[in-house]
Amino acid sequence: MTDRLYFTDAYLTAFEGTVESVEGTRVRLNKTAFYPTSGGQQFDLGTLGGVRVVEVIDEDAGIMHLLESAPSFAVGATVKGAVDWKRRFDHMQQHTGQHLLSALFEDLLKAKTASVHFGADSATVDIEVESVTRTEAIRIETRANQIVAENRAVSVAFEDAATASGLRKPSDRTGEIRIVSIAEIDRSACGGTHVRATGEIGGVLIRKLEKYKKQTRVEFICGARAIARARADYEALTGIAAVLSTGIDEVPTLVASQNESLRAMESEKRKLVESLAAYRAREHYDATAPSAADVRWIVVSAAPEELRALATAITSLPKAAFIGSCESPNTIVFAASEDSGLNAGALLKPALAAHGGRGGGNQKVAQGTAPDATALRAIVAILTG
Ligand SMILES: [Zn+2]
Repeated sequence: MTDRLYFTDAYLTAFEGTVESVEGTRVRLNKTAFYPTSGGQQFDLGTLGGVRVVEVIDEDAGIMHLLESAPSFAVGATVKGAVDWKRRFDHMQQHTGQHLLSALFEDLLKAKTASVHFGADSATVDIEVESVTRTEAIRIETRANQIVAENRAVSVAFEDAATASGLRKPSDRTGEIRIVSIAEIDRSACGGTHVRATGEIGGVLIRKLEKYKKQTRVEFICGARAIARARADYEALTGIAAVLSTGIDEVPTLVASQNESLRAMESEKRKLVESLAAYRAREHYDATAPSAADVRWIVVSAAPEELRALATAITSLPKAAFIGSCESPNTIVFAASEDSGLNAGALLKPALAAHGGRGGGNQKVAQGTAPDATALRAIVAILTG
């Protein structure tokens, strides 16, 4: 089995190991400082014998390093390994932050952690409680940052699973287990990498709270990530504030009131479109002579949204029929007022079917589309007879 150097020293980034197996780009050593993906924490990157490590996997035989290309070294060689510290330290900050948050959710809300996930942008803990209020989350975030400021020791110890006491979650392992402790608040069995004191976690920022399968998924970020996120949020807010010619603290109120007036304007616009359509419908109606059956057949080409408004307006005029078409896209709207003796839906459907069109509607208004302009004109011709 590979000797896991990160178990006793998470800060070790340069090491030497003896090659035990090489299969193509897969390399196993007698010992390594590379962390393999496990327990929700992502693998390390870096180099082995100068070749880039692209993935690290925990296998039965030991820790397997996947290299970018087949190495020139062979079994028995001593190779130098270098772990990408920026990525590793980021993982250590997020992971230790998670221990702290899980401990606080349990202590302050009596909610246990069901699972954790560390992503490239943010991490989540799933808490066994149906909901977490913003106030509760802020309380926990505040407490977490107090403990960060207290710079409490984070230590690693190896104990026998049978006798290890005070663990936050009983370990299902037997024999020796690795216990990570945050002074006076947490003792958890864990194989991950952690910072040595809470001060190194940096700021702890709770973000989204989401209901998830009768649990609550808490998204959080720590340390440099929290700063980068706060910077990105600030830039975005500043951009919005500049457009609105206001300060960032005024943005929420201003956006809410602008949204309200936008809704009012949209409703006003809808009313104007309707009254304009009624006016135009009357114009077309007056300019059209009644047929032998005393129905005025109004035939119009216009934009689709205008057709719909005109059709509705015409159905309220006496003894009127409306055929509106548009060639981009190929659309037809057929409408008939109640006293016209016509059924718009029943008349349009077979005309559409005869030329490969689709659509339908009720007695007063029906709408359809045609496969092309020629078919559209043919459908209009059927209806106008
Ligand atoms: Zn851990």
